[in-house]
Amino acid sequence: METILKLTTFFLCAIVTAQQTDYKQDSTQLREIYTASLTNGKSYDWLDYLSNEIGGRLAGSEGDKKAVAWGKSELEKLGLDKVWLQPVTVPHWVRGEKEEAYIKTSTGEFKVAICALGSSIATSKEGVLAEVIEVQSVKEVEALGDKVKGKIVFYNRPMPADKIETMRAYGASVGQRYNGARVAGKYGAVGAIVRSMNLKLDNYPHTGTMSYGENTENEKIPTAAISTKGAELLSKLLKEETNQLRFYFKQSCQNLPDAQSYNVIGEIKGSEFPNEIMVVGGHLDSWDLGDGSHDDGAGIVQSMEVIRLFKELKIRPKRTLRVVLFANEENGLGGGKAYAAEAKKNNEKHIVGLESDSGGFTPRGFGFTCNDENFKHIQQWKSLFEPYNIHIFARGGGGADIGPLKKEDNVLLGLRPDSQRYFDFHHTAADVFEAVHKRELELGAATMTSIIYLFDKYGIK
Ligand SMILES: [Zn+2]
Repeated sequence: METILKLTTFFLCAIVTAQQTDYKQDSTQLREIYTASLTNGKSYDWLDYLSNEIGGRLAGSEGDKKAVAWGKSELEKLGLDKVWLQPVTVPHWVRGEKEEAYIKTSTGEFKVAICALGSSIATSKEGVLAEVIEVQSVKEVEALGDKVKGKIVFYNRPMPADKIETMRAYGASVGQRYNGARVAGKYGAVGAIVRSMNLKLDNYPHTGTMSYGENTENEKIPTAAISTKGAELLSKLLKEETNQLRFYFKQSCQNLPDAQSYNVIGEIKGSEFPNEIMVVGGHLDSWDLGDGSHDDGAGIVQSMEVIRLFKELKIRPKRTLRVVLFANEENGLGGGKAYAAEAKKNNEKHIVGLESDSGGFTPRGFGFTCNDENFKHIQQWKSLFEPYNIHIFARGGGGADIGPLKKEDNVLLGLRPDSQRYFDFHHTAADVFEAVHKRELELGAATMTSIIYLFDKYGIK
């Protein structure tokens, strides 16, 4: 009796498993997706145009406008069910003239590479020349209090090298960039210089966003990032010349009135469950120093490639598939917030959100933010990805733009490419088309398409 019971249970389980994943059919479909992306893909050509014909596209800039028009027109060519623009009000910050900086000591002046941080105010026309106080954190500035008055605060905490995922190293250090000027300004500092978010030593300054919080106009001070080599030099000279050293910097950036931008959206209506929406996206804006090819041109063209591959391979989604090219992630998250607000207003049900915003490098897997039941459900698909060396199915992940869509029972996930070289390029003049490798980009697009195919077929729990 017990044996029969066991056998019956075994067969029942086998049937249930067969219904849950149709391994053979799914592996054939994944193979077709990877082949199409690698042999006849469009992502790399799209990235070429976005990087080389449009280039940097900070919110409110000419590049931003051009990128919106380009994204809409390319999506329209794909024969989707619907393509539209969603208006988004965005901040409009401009860098102005190229920044200048040097370290002045008793023996001479040493030029160093800096760039203003996004949202920072300018220095006076003559620039700022002041004594420097080196710190490792905003906490240290709070402890120093009035001792920073009249000085330039130099935040020099490196990204920790022992973190394997470099995004975690970024997370451990980026607070000094975002909050550094706000805290130093409250105690009367005249400027804040921040070590670039970079794991290697080079001469590229890395821009990025910062905030003055609730500071009064008087407490707002100009702030810039210094290259890691510049930071090392400044730190070394400070130790050698405690009394004589001065730092000079000049920048002419400005915060202009808010501007108009758009989320660019394309969709294929689901054939069986049109009210269950799956969103795939990246952010269309970028910083201004380079062409934003890794950040986040790669994520944009990969997301577009997902919906194009569905069309090309004639996979009619059962659930609604939407691609969103989000506006203004870098300095405000206006696009992500506006998209989620509209979704809420229209009572839309987003079951899945997938974002690619970690560079166009070799894909390794995904990070998922979801409940236990869904995490277990998704793990069933892991072996389908083995032939493509996709092995990370980890907890935690998504993306800034899709973040506001989080619900108790939906699934947000982020593509996880190899992260080791991402901070060689992130927010710098080195983030150009040549920095992205064609096959790596295409593998990422295929990996994203494959997981969306599985979400479409099996839904979520
Ligand atoms: Zn990004």
